[in-house]
Amino acid sequence: MKIILLGGPGAGKGTQAKLLKEHYNVPHISTGDILRANIKQNTELGIEAKNYIDQGLLVPDELVVHLIENRITEDDCKKGYILDGFPRTIPQAEALDKVLESINDQIDIVLNIEVSDDSIVKRMSGRRACLKCGATYHIDNNPPKVEGICDVCGTELVLRDDDKPETVANRLRVYHEETKPLIDYYTNKNMLVTIDGSRPIDDVTHDIISSIERGLN
Ligand code: ADP
Ligand code: ADP
Ligand code: ZN
Repeated sequence: MKIILLGGPGAGKGTQAKLLKEHYNVPHISTGDILRANIKQNTELGIEAKNYIDQGLLVPDELVVHLIENRITEDDCKKGYILDGFPRTIPQAEALDKVLESINDQIDIVLNIEVSDDSIVKRMSGRRACLKCGATYHIDNNPPKVEGICDVCGTELVLRDDDKPETVANRLRVYHEETKPLIDYYTNKNMLVTIDGSRPIDDVTHDIISSIERGLN
């Protein structure tokens, strides 16, 4: 099962990807998580990406395309994967198409998780993230069992620098300008299903799984 999760910042892509990963037993590939891990390890990619991420801008296409190309051609991706946060621009989507074509493969479904900008702002201000395992929580909607600590790995949770309100406004603008055109891109390829992301987490998961099972018909 090869899935793309589309949606604005804070739409719930990561939250759903973690649940779907368990359900379908396929890897969860988040470009945001990979970039943050590189920043933490001070790699060349991390140093370059940090400037963009801190401003709420997208990292240049060639950097993420390269990273995804390497990742999806690894052995554990043969059975499928969930792409979370990639592609985010038309050139990224076109590059992904080319890579898949070259290995005679294709994406099964693109799920567009739709949430209003107002809810996004609320979600981001309450989001707490584990930078070790990528899990995210919300102080009201999805709190960890122990305040400030990741349920999965016990690491201390943080408010990401780019989740501060000034940066969130930029990220939303970038989403509307650069990522939203992907809705048409995948609609035209008859691959897109829209999911109401404003519902409670478990209901969204349920809708996603039934959409996948129904296929695109
Ligand atoms: P994304 O990966 O799309 O940026 P996340 O999965 O990190 O989004 O979710 C953003 C924030 O919203 C987190 O704090 C998360 O706990 C919360 N959240 C996710 N899904 C829902 C939902 N269906 N209802 C309410 N809050 C949610
Ligand atoms: P969110 O979960 O809130 O949507 P992500 O963790 O996916 O945020 O991404 C955080 C930041 O990492 C983005 O604002 C952007 O700077 C960078 N980034 C992640 N994925 C991509 C991508 N596919 N292309 C360019 N930049 C990316
Ligand atoms: Zn964790």
